[in-house]
Amino acid sequence: MTSHRQPAVFAGHGSPMYALQPNRFTAAWATLGKSLKRPDAILVISAHWVTRGTWVTAMTKPKTIHDFGGFPPALFDIQYPALGSPALADRIEELLNVPVVLEENEWGIDHGAWSVLKYLYPNADVPVVQLSLDGSRTARQHYELAKQLIPLRDENILILSSGNVVHNLRTMDWQADAQPYPWAKQFNDFFISKMRADHHELLIEWEKYGDPAHLSIPTAEHYWPALYTLALQQEGEHAKVFIDGIEMSSISMLGFTIQ
Ligand code: ZN
Repeated sequence: MTSHRQPAVFAGHGSPMYALQPNRFTAAWATLGKSLKRPDAILVISAHWVTRGTWVTAMTKPKTIHDFGGFPPALFDIQYPALGSPALADRIEELLNVPVVLEENEWGIDHGAWSVLKYLYPNADVPVVQLSLDGSRTARQHYELAKQLIPLRDENILILSSGNVVHNLRTMDWQADAQPYPWAKQFNDFFISKMRADHHELLIEWEKYGDPAHLSIPTAEHYWPALYTLALQQEGEHAKVFIDGIEMSSISMLGFTIQ
């Protein structure tokens, strides 16, 4: 079965401006997209859809959501016209052991999703469904919920989680030569080493790692998507880093696959 299984992907999405300004991170997403077997649909878990309860987009034509402010008009003009997949939404409802709200009007494809998808599948020709992050769940509850999605990987569904392992907007340095803060590098390196050693417990319990963790994760919504990808790991599989780097001193652009 393994040869037919889709990998699970985590992308650190960074600034929405990358959608207009290609760089080494967007190049890595494009290369990854070309290397993947074409999935029947993509399930995205984005840091930018936090809800009360668990929601899934279930419309046939999800709209492109520009869920940010203060950026140039060209960024608001971007459309990602992928279709939705009500069938996949139903399948997710079937797999999860929590009540699921099938959402057909308000959400769609948010910038955590399309800023990566635009490079991963530039033709927007693979249907996209989003699963929300229930803001009331603990890190462990997110990890456990994600495990229930494992069967999708053998059904040719690509599960793409989009966030940032280190994400502190308050401390960002906008200078071109900005260097990573020691605590940002320390936590990013900690994450990679524990991930490579399959020590997921330590990553679920990130709050025990002290100041570097708390500075790197001032709020958890950008971190949780990484736990979804880790949770999808199965026997004999490993994490592979496909891109790494810390931008603006406190945003980790780490991206990895499980396969
Ligand atoms: Zn974000």
